[in-house]
Amino acid sequence: MQNVNLCAQTPVLDEIRNVAEGWINEIDLFALHSVENGVGGPFGAALYLYNSATKAHEMIGEMMGNAVLSTGCGSAHAEDRVLHSSHIEILKDRLAQLAPQKDQLYLVMVSSAESCPACHSKEQIVARDLMSCGLLDEGHFIVVYGATYQDTAEVAGFHDAPYFEDIQKDIGDGLIKVRHLDVADSPADIRQALAQSDQDSCVIVQNGHILSCGHDNLSPYAPFASASYLTIQSACCTQKDQGVNQPWNLRGAVLYTTQSDIGPLTYTECQWANISAIIQIKNTARSSSTEARGITNQTLFKIVGTPDYSHPDSAICMMKLDNFANLAQHGWKNRLEQIGDSILYNGIDAA
Ligand SMILES: [Zn+2]
Repeated sequence: MQNVNLCAQTPVLDEIRNVAEGWINEIDLFALHSVENGVGGPFGAALYLYNSATKAHEMIGEMMGNAVLSTGCGSAHAEDRVLHSSHIEILKDRLAQLAPQKDQLYLVMVSSAESCPACHSKEQIVARDLMSCGLLDEGHFIVVYGATYQDTAEVAGFHDAPYFEDIQKDIGDGLIKVRHLDVADSPADIRQALAQSDQDSCVIVQNGHILSCGHDNLSPYAPFASASYLTIQSACCTQKDQGVNQPWNLRGAVLYTTQSDIGPLTYTECQWANISAIIQIKNTARSSSTEARGITNQTLFKIVGTPDYSHPDSAICMMKLDNFANLAQHGWKNRLEQIGDSILYNGIDAA
């Protein structure tokens, strides 16, 4: 795939920017209601298809909000929910129906706030998948957002910037240690758990006990349902079922993986779950796939670690909207002041 980051100003992108201002205000109101009803954090997102010839647009699926509290999973952000398999199924079916108009179609992900690196990884994975399938033209996946990391920190008190700074380091030099272990030298219970599938597999160990085990379950409608993503979700769910306070915090657990080359999806999911180390199990005879189609995990790391989606290999064009009211984050701030408590969670300790 060639350089597809075509976010130079074009008349179509100007049109999308204008129409997206209406969409993002609706999303902001939706997120504000979520806050006022105590459902989740002050974030919302939605996917739209825009036809540059007819100027028609449609929402794919429904608006989604942050679901960290309801799912117990620290990366269940609005963008993650919007890219859920049920939405990808609707999207792919719709794009297939509209194939004759493909060159006029733009997919626009509108998020009330700048995506964290985990969500950005998922966006790049989905964009490349759609383009590789021939459903979307290169340069036609647009991400639009309102609040920057700085706004989100100053207004709502969430700190995404440390995650971004962390993934800009070489793997192993960041907050999460990365080590290698030959399968023959790995503990028997871990070896046994990993052997349950011939797909890439993960095991999460906390305080010497296996908390969860999972395997790749990638499919056309679930392009980022990797072993690490699913195993971390499963561990958080287990903690939630056990009534653990802050189930999204795996408290320094260790992730064992057969993934031969760690990509940013695995790494950033570990960030949100407070995993302290990733141990790559060698010589398991698995054929690991890369996280995004057509590029190495190392390149995907570079793409996600480059500000403003501006890496030459980015499959996404990003636009920041000015004049964004950011009602939800201000509502969140007011609510915290009223209740005098916070359930803020950032995975990485700000200290
Ligand atoms: Zn996110």
